[in-house]
Amino acid sequence: MSFTFNKEETVTLLKQLVEIPSPSGFTQEIMDFMENILKELQVPYIRTNKGALIATIKGEDDTKHRLLTAHTDTLGAMVKEVKSSGRLKLTMVGGFNWNAVEGEYCTIHTASGKKIRGTILMHQTTVHVYKNASTLPRDEQNIEVRIDEKVTNAEETRALGIEVGDFVSFDPRFEETDTGFIKSRHLDDKASTALLLQLIKTLKESDVALPHTTHFYISNNEEIGYGGNSNIPAQTVEYIAVDMGAIGDGQTSDEYTVSICAKDSSGPYHYELTRQLVSMAQQGNIDYKLDIYPYYGSDASAAIRAGFDVKHALFGPGIEASHAYERTHIDSLKNTAELLYAYVNSKIL
Ligand SMILES: [Zn+2]
Repeated sequence: MSFTFNKEETVTLLKQLVEIPSPSGFTQEIMDFMENILKELQVPYIRTNKGALIATIKGEDDTKHRLLTAHTDTLGAMVKEVKSSGRLKLTMVGGFNWNAVEGEYCTIHTASGKKIRGTILMHQTTVHVYKNASTLPRDEQNIEVRIDEKVTNAEETRALGIEVGDFVSFDPRFEETDTGFIKSRHLDDKASTALLLQLIKTLKESDVALPHTTHFYISNNEEIGYGGNSNIPAQTVEYIAVDMGAIGDGQTSDEYTVSICAKDSSGPYHYELTRQLVSMAQQGNIDYKLDIYPYYGSDASAAIRAGFDVKHALFGPGIEASHAYERTHIDSLKNTAELLYAYVNSKIL
Protein backbone atom coordinates (compact mmCIF):
# COMPACT_ATOMS: atom_id res chain seq x y z
CA MET A 1 0.00 0.00 0.00
CA SER A 2 1.32 3.43 -0.83
CA PHE A 3 1.28 6.24 1.67
CA THR A 4 -0.11 9.73 1.15
CA PHE A 5 0.85 12.43 3.61
CA ASN A 6 -2.22 14.35 4.77
CA LYS A 7 -0.83 17.86 5.16
CA GLU A 8 -4.04 19.61 6.24
CA GLU A 9 -4.97 17.11 8.94
CA THR A 10 -1.42 16.95 10.28
CA VAL A 11 -1.05 20.74 10.54
CA THR A 12 -4.52 21.15 12.09
CA LEU A 13 -3.72 18.51 14.70
CA LEU A 14 -0.30 20.02 15.38
CA LYS A 15 -1.88 23.44 15.99
CA GLN A 16 -4.37 21.87 18.42
CA LEU A 17 -1.56 20.12 20.27
CA VAL A 18 0.74 23.14 20.70
CA GLU A 19 -2.19 25.22 21.95
CA ILE A 20 -2.86 22.88 24.88
CA PRO A 21 -0.48 23.93 27.69
CA SER A 22 1.60 20.93 28.84
CA PRO A 23 4.84 21.68 30.67
CA SER A 24 6.38 18.45 32.07
CA GLY A 25 4.47 17.64 35.25
CA PHE A 26 1.30 19.36 34.05
CA THR A 27 0.18 17.11 31.21
CA GLN A 28 -3.24 15.89 32.36
CA GLU A 29 -5.19 17.95 29.81
CA ILE A 30 -3.10 17.02 26.79
CA MET A 31 -3.05 13.35 27.75
CA ASP A 32 -6.86 13.42 28.11
CA PHE A 33 -6.99 14.96 24.63
CA MET A 34 -4.75 12.20 23.27
CA GLU A 35 -6.75 9.52 25.06
CA ASN A 36 -9.98 10.77 23.48
CA ILE A 37 -8.48 10.53 20.01
CA LEU A 38 -7.33 6.95 20.69
CA LYS A 39 -10.81 6.11 21.97
CA GLU A 40 -12.41 7.54 18.84
CA LEU A 41 -10.03 5.53 16.67
CA GLN A 42 -10.86 2.45 18.75
CA VAL A 43 -7.22 1.60 19.32
CA PRO A 44 -6.58 -0.35 22.53
CA TYR A 45 -4.34 1.53 24.95
CA ILE A 46 -3.28 1.73 28.57
CA ARG A 47 -2.61 4.80 30.69
CA THR A 48 0.35 4.37 33.00
CA ASN A 49 0.66 5.62 36.58
CA LYS A 50 3.11 8.23 35.29
CA GLY A 51 0.37 9.43 32.95
CA ALA A 52 1.69 8.17 29.60
CA LEU A 53 -0.42 6.37 27.00
CA ILE A 54 0.60 3.18 25.23
CA ALA A 55 -1.58 2.30 22.26
CA THR A 56 -1.11 -1.02 20.53
CA ILE A 57 -1.87 -2.30 17.05
CA LYS A 58 -1.54 -6.05 16.73
CA GLY A 59 0.58 -7.33 13.86
CA GLU A 60 1.05 -10.65 12.06
CA ASP A 61 4.01 -11.48 14.29
CA ASP A 62 3.00 -11.06 17.91
CA THR A 63 6.26 -12.42 19.35
CA LYS A 64 8.61 -9.63 18.28
CA HIS A 65 7.21 -6.17 18.98
CA ARG A 66 8.34 -2.69 18.09
CA LEU A 67 7.66 0.53 19.91
CA LEU A 68 7.59 4.13 18.71
CA THR A 69 7.43 7.04 21.10
CA ALA A 70 6.90 10.79 20.96
CA HIS A 71 6.40 13.14 23.88
CA THR A 72 3.68 15.68 24.61
CA ASP A 73 5.37 17.42 27.52
CA THR A 74 7.08 20.72 26.81
CA LEU A 75 9.25 23.30 28.45
CA GLY A 76 7.59 25.58 30.96
CA ALA A 77 8.05 27.00 34.44
CA MET A 78 6.66 27.05 37.96
CA VAL A 79 6.09 29.91 40.36
CA LYS A 80 9.16 29.93 42.62
CA GLU A 81 8.29 32.96 44.69
CA VAL A 82 5.66 35.68 44.94
CA LYS A 83 7.71 38.88 45.09
CA SER A 84 6.92 41.81 47.37
CA SER A 85 6.04 43.76 44.19
CA GLY A 86 3.30 41.22 43.44
CA ARG A 87 5.27 39.90 40.47
CA LEU A 88 6.53 36.30 40.25
CA LYS A 89 9.90 34.65 40.25
CA LEU A 90 10.05 31.49 38.19
CA THR A 91 11.87 28.19 38.23
CA MET A 92 12.43 26.38 34.93
CA VAL A 93 10.79 23.13 33.93
CA GLY A 94 13.04 21.52 31.31
CA GLY A 95 16.23 22.97 29.85
CA PHE A 96 16.22 26.32 28.09
CA ASN A 97 17.77 29.76 28.29
CA TRP A 98 15.76 32.55 29.87
CA ASN A 99 16.42 34.82 26.91
CA ALA A 100 14.42 32.35 24.79
CA VAL A 101 11.24 33.28 26.66
CA GLU A 102 11.95 36.91 27.49
CA GLY A 103 8.98 38.96 26.34
CA GLU A 104 6.74 35.93 25.88
CA TYR A 105 3.13 35.94 27.03
CA CYS A 106 2.30 33.27 29.53
CA THR A 107 -0.48 31.70 31.57
CA ILE A 108 -0.32 30.97 35.29
CA HIS A 109 -2.40 27.90 36.18
CA THR A 110 -3.66 28.19 39.77
CA ALA A 111 -4.52 25.21 41.97
CA SER A 112 -8.23 26.00 41.69
CA GLY A 113 -7.99 25.84 37.88
CA LYS A 114 -7.98 29.59 37.22
CA LYS A 115 -5.89 30.83 34.31
CA ILE A 116 -4.20 34.17 34.81
CA ARG A 117 -2.32 35.89 32.02
CA GLY A 118 1.05 37.56 32.21
CA THR A 119 4.28 38.41 30.43
CA ILE A 120 7.79 37.12 31.10
CA LEU A 121 10.13 40.08 31.39
CA MET A 122 13.44 41.21 32.80
CA HIS A 123 12.80 43.16 36.00
CA GLN A 124 14.97 45.88 34.48
CA THR A 125 13.27 46.02 31.07
CA THR A 126 12.48 49.64 30.49
CA VAL A 127 15.38 51.55 28.94
CA HIS A 128 13.97 54.78 30.32
CA VAL A 129 14.82 53.71 33.85
CA TYR A 130 17.49 51.01 33.71
CA LYS A 131 20.70 52.02 31.98
CA ASN A 132 22.19 48.52 31.98
CA ALA A 133 19.02 46.67 30.86
CA SER A 134 20.66 45.10 27.80
CA THR A 135 23.71 43.64 29.54
CA LEU A 136 22.24 42.27 32.76
CA PRO A 137 22.13 38.46 32.93
CA ARG A 138 18.89 36.78 31.92
CA ASP A 139 18.50 34.53 34.95
CA GLU A 140 16.14 33.46 37.74
CA GLN A 141 17.01 36.59 39.72
CA ASN A 142 16.21 39.13 37.02
CA ILE A 143 13.45 37.39 35.06
CA GLU A 144 9.93 37.82 36.43
CA VAL A 145 6.29 37.56 35.44
CA ARG A 146 4.26 40.74 35.15
CA ILE A 147 0.71 39.65 35.94
CA ASP A 148 -2.16 41.18 33.98
CA GLU A 149 -4.07 42.07 37.13
CA LYS A 150 -4.08 45.18 39.32
CA VAL A 151 -1.60 43.94 41.91
CA THR A 152 1.11 45.88 43.73
CA ASN A 153 2.13 43.50 46.50
CA ALA A 154 2.39 39.80 47.37
CA GLU A 155 -0.90 39.73 49.31
CA GLU A 156 -2.89 40.95 46.33
CA THR A 157 -1.24 38.38 44.08
CA ARG A 158 -1.94 35.59 46.57
CA ALA A 159 -5.56 36.76 46.78
CA LEU A 160 -5.87 35.85 43.08
CA GLY A 161 -5.10 32.26 44.06
CA ILE A 162 -1.52 32.30 42.81
CA GLU A 163 0.91 30.29 44.92
CA VAL A 164 4.39 28.80 44.85
CA GLY A 165 4.30 25.64 42.73
CA ASP A 166 1.72 26.84 40.21
CA PHE A 167 2.62 25.92 36.64
CA VAL A 168 3.35 28.58 34.06
CA SER A 169 2.98 27.84 30.35
CA PHE A 170 4.40 29.84 27.45
CA ASP A 171 2.24 30.95 24.52
CA PRO A 172 3.07 28.88 21.41
CA ARG A 173 2.32 31.63 18.83
CA PHE A 174 1.59 29.07 16.12
CA GLU A 175 1.87 30.34 12.56
CA GLU A 176 1.79 28.51 9.24
CA THR A 177 3.25 30.56 6.41
CA ASP A 178 2.23 30.24 2.77
CA THR A 179 5.84 29.22 2.07
CA GLY A 180 5.31 26.01 4.06
CA PHE A 181 6.99 26.94 7.33
CA ILE A 182 5.45 26.20 10.70
CA LYS A 183 6.59 28.53 13.45
CA SER A 184 5.63 27.76 17.02
CA ARG A 185 6.93 26.94 20.44
CA HIS A 186 6.69 23.29 21.46
CA LEU A 187 7.20 21.77 17.99
CA ASP A 188 9.55 19.63 20.10
CA ASP A 189 7.96 17.16 20.29
CA LYS A 190 4.38 17.91 19.33
CA ALA A 191 5.33 17.77 15.64
CA SER A 192 6.29 14.11 16.12
CA THR A 193 3.27 13.46 18.33
CA ALA A 194 1.00 14.73 15.56
CA LEU A 195 2.80 12.46 13.07
CA LEU A 196 2.42 9.40 15.30
CA LEU A 197 -1.29 10.06 15.81
CA GLN A 198 -1.76 10.51 12.08
CA LEU A 199 0.10 7.25 11.51
CA ILE A 200 -2.18 5.40 13.94
CA LYS A 201 -5.18 6.86 12.12
CA THR A 202 -3.84 5.83 8.70
CA LEU A 203 -3.15 2.29 9.93
CA LYS A 204 -6.61 1.96 11.48
CA GLU A 205 -8.31 3.19 8.33
CA SER A 206 -6.27 1.06 5.92
CA ASP A 207 -6.96 -2.16 7.80
CA VAL A 208 -3.79 -3.71 6.37
CA ALA A 209 -2.04 -5.88 8.96
CA LEU A 210 1.37 -4.71 10.16
CA PRO A 211 4.19 -7.28 10.08
CA HIS A 212 4.77 -6.89 13.84
CA THR A 213 2.72 -5.83 16.83
CA THR A 214 3.50 -2.14 17.23
CA HIS A 215 3.18 0.04 20.32
CA PHE A 216 2.76 3.81 20.21
CA TYR A 217 4.01 5.29 23.43
CA ILE A 218 2.87 8.86 24.05
CA SER A 219 5.21 9.96 26.80
CA ASN A 220 4.76 12.94 29.10
CA ASN A 221 8.06 13.32 30.95
CA GLU A 222 10.75 13.48 28.26
CA GLU A 223 11.97 17.03 28.88
CA ILE A 224 12.89 16.06 32.44
CA GLY A 225 14.57 12.81 31.41
CA TYR A 226 12.26 9.96 32.36
CA GLY A 227 9.51 9.80 29.77
CA GLY A 228 9.37 6.46 27.96
CA ASN A 229 11.61 4.48 30.29
CA SER A 230 9.00 2.29 32.00
CA ASN A 231 6.09 -0.01 31.06
CA ILE A 232 7.86 -1.19 27.91
CA PRO A 233 6.22 -4.47 26.84
CA ALA A 234 8.57 -7.44 27.34
CA GLN A 235 8.37 -8.54 23.68
CA THR A 236 9.75 -5.19 22.45
CA VAL A 237 12.81 -5.69 20.26
CA GLU A 238 13.06 -2.27 18.60
CA TYR A 239 12.46 1.05 20.32
CA ILE A 240 12.28 4.22 18.23
CA ALA A 241 12.16 7.70 19.67
CA VAL A 242 10.48 10.05 17.22
CA ASP A 243 11.88 13.38 18.24
CA MET A 244 13.36 16.52 16.73
CA GLY A 245 16.53 16.80 14.69
CA ALA A 246 18.95 19.43 16.01
CA ILE A 247 19.95 22.18 13.56
CA GLY A 248 22.96 24.48 13.88
CA ASP A 249 26.59 25.07 12.88
CA GLY A 250 28.21 21.82 11.78
CA GLN A 251 24.91 19.93 11.79
CA THR A 252 23.63 18.13 8.68
CA SER A 253 19.98 18.39 9.79
CA ASP A 254 17.68 20.95 8.24
CA GLU A 255 14.02 21.95 8.21
CA TYR A 256 13.18 20.00 5.05
CA THR A 257 14.36 16.44 5.68
CA VAL A 258 13.91 13.70 8.25
CA SER A 259 16.88 13.67 10.59
CA ILE A 260 18.23 10.25 11.63
CA CYS A 261 20.45 10.38 14.71
CA ALA A 262 23.61 8.26 14.78
CA LYS A 263 24.76 9.50 18.19
CA ASP A 264 23.83 12.00 20.87
CA SER A 265 25.14 12.80 24.36
CA SER A 266 24.09 9.31 25.51
CA GLY A 267 26.35 7.63 22.93
CA PRO A 268 25.72 5.90 19.60
CA TYR A 269 22.27 4.61 18.73
CA HIS A 270 21.94 0.96 17.67
CA TYR A 271 24.12 0.72 14.58
CA GLU A 272 22.30 -1.92 12.53
CA LEU A 273 18.85 -0.44 13.24
CA THR A 274 20.07 3.03 12.32
CA ARG A 275 21.55 1.67 9.07
CA GLN A 276 18.22 -0.02 8.31
CA LEU A 277 16.42 3.30 8.71
CA VAL A 278 18.90 4.94 6.35
CA SER A 279 18.42 2.27 3.70
CA MET A 280 14.62 2.47 4.09
CA ALA A 281 14.86 6.21 3.44
CA GLN A 282 17.06 5.61 0.40
CA GLN A 283 14.80 2.94 -1.05
CA GLY A 284 11.69 5.04 -0.48
CA ASN A 285 13.21 8.22 -1.98
CA ILE A 286 12.70 9.91 1.37
CA ASP A 287 14.91 12.96 1.93
CA TYR A 288 16.93 12.32 5.07
CA LYS A 289 20.02 13.50 6.91
CA LEU A 290 22.19 11.41 9.17
CA ASP A 291 23.40 13.49 12.06
CA ILE A 292 24.98 13.69 15.51
CA TYR A 293 23.40 15.84 18.21
CA PRO A 294 25.98 17.27 20.63
CA TYR A 295 23.75 18.14 23.62
CA TYR A 296 20.80 15.81 23.45
CA GLY A 297 19.13 12.79 25.03
CA SER A 298 15.90 11.02 24.08
CA ASP A 299 13.33 8.71 25.58
CA ALA A 300 15.11 5.90 23.68
CA SER A 301 18.39 6.54 25.49
CA ALA A 302 16.41 6.90 28.75
CA ALA A 303 14.93 3.43 28.14
CA ILE A 304 18.40 1.98 27.57
CA ARG A 305 19.65 3.63 30.76
CA ALA A 306 16.68 2.24 32.66
CA GLY A 307 17.94 -1.21 31.68
CA PHE A 308 15.66 -2.29 28.84
CA ASP A 309 17.18 -4.76 26.41
CA VAL A 310 16.08 -3.14 23.14
CA LYS A 311 17.63 -1.92 19.92
CA HIS A 312 17.16 1.84 19.99
CA ALA A 313 17.07 4.49 17.32
CA LEU A 314 16.04 8.11 16.95
CA PHE A 315 14.66 10.11 14.06
CA GLY A 316 12.33 13.03 13.52
CA PRO A 317 11.69 16.36 11.84
CA GLY A 318 14.42 19.00 11.85
CA ILE A 319 13.53 21.77 14.29
CA GLU A 320 15.27 25.13 13.97
CA ALA A 321 15.98 27.18 17.16
CA SER A 322 14.94 24.32 19.42
CA HIS A 323 13.82 25.11 22.96
CA ALA A 324 13.12 28.66 21.82
CA TYR A 325 10.65 29.99 19.23
CA GLU A 326 10.96 26.97 16.95
CA ARG A 327 10.38 26.46 13.25
CA THR A 328 10.14 23.59 10.80
CA HIS A 329 8.87 23.09 7.27
CA ILE A 330 6.06 20.92 6.00
CA ASP A 331 8.63 19.00 3.88
CA SER A 332 10.32 17.78 7.05
CA LEU A 333 7.00 16.56 8.45
CA LYS A 334 6.23 14.81 5.17
CA ASN A 335 9.61 13.04 5.02
CA THR A 336 9.31 11.97 8.66
CA ALA A 337 5.77 10.65 8.08
CA GLU A 338 7.01 8.64 5.08
CA LEU A 339 9.87 7.09 7.02
CA LEU A 340 7.51 6.23 9.89
CA TYR A 341 5.18 4.48 7.49
CA ALA A 342 7.99 2.57 5.77
CA TYR A 343 9.42 1.54 9.13
CA VAL A 344 6.23 0.13 10.69
CA ASN A 345 5.64 -1.87 7.52
CA SER A 346 9.12 -3.42 7.52
CA LYS A 347 10.19 -6.74 9.00
CA ILE A 348 12.30 -6.89 12.14
CA LEU A 349 15.59 -8.41 10.97
ZN1 LIG B 1 11.92 16.44 22.42
